[in-house]
Amino acid sequence: DSYLAAIDAANPALNAYVAVTHDKARDMARASDARLAEGQGGALEGIPLGIKDLFATEGVHTQACSHVLDGFKPRYESTVSANLWADGAVMLGKLNMDEFAMGSSNETSYYGPVINPWRAESSNRQLVPGGSSGGSAAAVSAFLCSGATATDTGGSIRQPAAFTGTVGIKPTYGRCSRWGIAAFASSLDQAGPIARDVRDAAILLKSMASVDKKDTTSVDRPVPDYEAAIGRSLKGMKIGIPREYRVDGTPQEIEDLWRKGIDWLREAGAEIVDISLPHTKYALPAYYIVAPAEASSNLARYDGVRYGLRVPGKDIVDMYEKTRAAGFGREVKRRVMIGTYVLSAGYYDAYYLQAQKVRTLIKKDFEDVFAAGVDAILTPATPSAAFGIADEEMNADPVKMYLNDIFTVTVNMAGLPGIAVPGGLDANGLPLGLQLIGRPFDEETLFQTAHVIE
Ligand code: GLN
Repeated sequence: DSYLAAIDAANPALNAYVAVTHDKARDMARASDARLAEGQGGALEGIPLGIKDLFATEGVHTQACSHVLDGFKPRYESTVSANLWADGAVMLGKLNMDEFAMGSSNETSYYGPVINPWRAESSNRQLVPGGSSGGSAAAVSAFLCSGATATDTGGSIRQPAAFTGTVGIKPTYGRCSRWGIAAFASSLDQAGPIARDVRDAAILLKSMASVDKKDTTSVDRPVPDYEAAIGRSLKGMKIGIPREYRVDGTPQEIEDLWRKGIDWLREAGAEIVDISLPHTKYALPAYYIVAPAEASSNLARYDGVRYGLRVPGKDIVDMYEKTRAAGFGREVKRRVMIGTYVLSAGYYDAYYLQAQKVRTLIKKDFEDVFAAGVDAILTPATPSAAFGIADEEMNADPVKMYLNDIFTVTVNMAGLPGIAVPGGLDANGLPLGLQLIGRPFDEETLFQTAHVIE
């Protein structure tokens, strides 16, 4: 009840939730109380969570914050959310996000932007919470849920976590089932939690992760007790500092944050080593070929026949065109057009195939570094603190917006786990995040190391 009251009071200003499931939350909480009274109870018994609108929730608003899914209420539950309910968690509602998870500011949502609960000390300007999991990050940051689900295709868990002073982990590709999560770029998409601290993130990820027959890319490996990794010593651990992440134009405060992170880990007993990831500079351009290519294919299913919106036309082709024209926003249309172009005959080899080759090289860069004994890699999570809503530069030039992902996309391209953890405040009192990148399925090292920083 106190979470629901907090949402009702704060959500009109923050727009973090697009649907609040008051009745369902109370029913689930009562069922949880009953289980506890019986002496039963799971790992998340009674814990109130928010769910990103990308996850299918049975009988509840699920629109990926797009108009094209108008009125869609699935008859099934995503595996990740089902895992959380099975452990006793309580659903508070569905969280705002960039349309189909395409964006870095949560301004492409059909439901309007999310407002970051943080403000700079020097101005009262409204700031973005980052994206695409902006609703998840803002809701956790503003105490409107105790944790949230999120997804990360190129940074959408880690960048909003960094912008809101929260912790977000994108686990290894295959750690969580993608079943019931609206697909953006299937070879990059992964679910993970946004939480108030590293321990909460560890507890939530343990519940979310599972192998699933309904997602053949989910991996059959035991899920470790991530929480047990917290508090372990860093002695003997090797942390890599990639020189290619020192990009021109990185603000001094980001450099300073990185330097502080290095000092903290060294003081905690880790050995700091310089490393090279030579193909880093190709990651962003390759990502913005691969992700739109997969998106253009995945979004073909929104045709006015199967789900959501239908705008009648004079024949079926006219109906498709009118439905998609009215249903998708500008950024989604841009991705579909780029993706269709790079996959088309004559351009496939020059763009898509080339990007796939680059992806292999990026993956190999990381493999080489880990083979040389590096346990985790420390970088900034984002090239800046949260920026203003309707930032003119950012919105006039989509490429400027895409640069937000410069430190995060390599991790998705290589399928690795990455965590964003608060590293302190900038001169304006705004949160900044550090990122740790780990070996495949070694989320434990990330929790262990991030806990030293938080
Ligand atoms: N900002 C990136 C994009 O727009 C990443 C989004 C994501 O991780 N879902 O594609």
